[in-house]
Amino acid sequence: MYTIFKNKNPVLRKKAAALKRITNKELMLMDEMLKIMYRDKGIGLAAPQVGISKQIIVIDIGEGPLKLFNPRIIRKKGEMVSLPERCLSLPGLSVKVKRPKKVLVEACTVSGEKILIEAEDLLARVLQHEIDHLHGRLIIDYLPWYRRRLLLK
Ligand code: ZN
Repeated sequence: MYTIFKNKNPVLRKKAAALKRITNKELMLMDEMLKIMYRDKGIGLAAPQVGISKQIIVIDIGEGPLKLFNPRIIRKKGEMVSLPERCLSLPGLSVKVKRPKKVLVEACTVSGEKILIEAEDLLARVLQHEIDHLHGRLIIDYLPWYRRRLLLK
């Protein structure tokens, strides 16, 4: 079983590598990630959070699991909305993050099919949060530096 990498762990700051194709190894990893996510009552998890610097995310906002690799934001739409977010890698923290209400995301499914996801509200927010992880970005980065330093002590 994987554990969640937290706080100042350098893997959380690395840019995750894109995948050429999904093998059994990645499929097993995605299932493990989902298990950890459900166990810790999260609604999304990115592979760097379990120490694996690959562009893989899993999401479940209550409508069933979504397993994606190489996701990227194609377009941001709608007004900016500021809402509190939590992150399994930053236990105990809640940070208000301003994000666009809608996004268009391109990603690959486990069968290797390229899909477009038109997401809004919660799904749009989780997708943006997880894609941030793949770029080494955390929710505390949306805070001014002096607050960030206090929080990560
Ligand atoms: Zn997170």
